[in-house]
Amino acid sequence: MLDNKVCIEFVSRSENEGFARVAVAAFVSQLDPTIDELADVKTAVSEAVTNSIIHGYENAKEGIIKIEAAISGNEVSITIIDNGRGIENVDQAREPLYTSRPDLERSGMGFTVMETFMDSLYVESEFGKGTRVIMKKKFN
Ligand code: ATP
Ligand code: MG
Repeated sequence: MLDNKVCIEFVSRSENEGFARVAVAAFVSQLDPTIDELADVKTAVSEAVTNSIIHGYENAKEGIIKIEAAISGNEVSITIIDNGRGIENVDQAREPLYTSRPDLERSGMGFTVMETFMDSLYVESEFGKGTRVIMKKKFN
């Protein structure tokens, strides 16, 4: 049987962040998550989408954000893709409290939040080309 999957694409505007979070949560609902688990997924998606908007597209250049979500057994895989500026040093970016934009009063905790709320996090990025964040979570 094919994995169940959905794909959504939207313009990188902050008003679409709530849509993305709720759309992914609706898809994940079929795995019967607890309220807390669903809240965790929403928070992780929010962090990734916000990063694509403010860092990837630098809050100015509008671009497309794509989210692919797939369910395999009791696990969901959520991929957030942008074609923005990319990340020069992914290891450094993933460190707790690292932010390239202290001027925007970011706290540098987005990746740490994603890692904490999901079971696994992969970040693939090419500077000048874009970023792909893949996160997975299992539900019992
Ligand atoms: P916070 O999420 O706490 O508001 P932050 O966004 O700076 O602060 P993280 O979400 O952990 O912290 O991201 C760390 C850094 O990784 C960012 O400051 C930015 O330099 C880089 N980064 C993250 N996502 C992207 C992206 N999609 N495109 C380009 N750079 C990114
Ligand atoms: Mg962030």
